[in-house]
Amino acid sequence: PGGDDGSGRPPARLTVLAGPTAVGKGTVAAEIRERFPDVWISVSATTRKARPGEVHGVHYLFVSDDEFDRMIADGELLEWAVVHKAARYGTPKQPVLDKLAAGRPALLEIDLQGARQVRATMPEAHFVFLAPPSWDELVRRLVGRGTETADERERRLETAVLELAAEKEFDVTIVNASVREAADQLVKLIRSPSISGKS
Ligand code: 5GP
Repeated sequence: PGGDDGSGRPPARLTVLAGPTAVGKGTVAAEIRERFPDVWISVSATTRKARPGEVHGVHYLFVSDDEFDRMIADGELLEWAVVHKAARYGTPKQPVLDKLAAGRPALLEIDLQGARQVRATMPEAHFVFLAPPSWDELVRRLVGRGTETADERERRLETAVLELAAEKEFDVTIVNASVREAADQLVKLIRSPSISGKS
């Protein structure tokens, strides 16, 4: 009863959630972690420092630059990228393969560069784009903190335009108007055996 349909495919599928900066991917993932503990969410390795409240092994594996180099060299990462020109983030491969083999749905919450790498190596995964309710709302979320200079804001907005254009590379779009509803929709997709003609 692992859900194997006899096709020889793994019984559970990988779902990749990506989307533009500030759309709220992390918040949706946190909501799923809390309300749907049966969904396994990959714990990424990162070279950035832990923020207050973040726990090693729960939110991230906080590693040194040397350790991250070693993980790349040893082929331990499914994908990795430099995000916001600031730090490296990557998905440890073996835990993902283990969970899928055991029939447990798995979710990656990663940036667009990482999603493209997974698309290249695991095209059978579900690719879900998290979109803002509107361009105006994304701008509000991006500049909401008011800590960036006008120049930085301009650069972030230019990046956001490019990121929104990536939507067409994805199988499904979920609009993040309400975190609760976005999480509900995503979990439904994670649990469904196939999506948009993919089998
Ligand atoms: P934060 O530093 O705010 O936790 O995350 C910054 C960004 O890194 C988010 O856009 C998140 O999607 C991305 N990210 C987190 N983990 C990974 C990962 O393993 N791989 C990639 N490519 N991006 C990641």
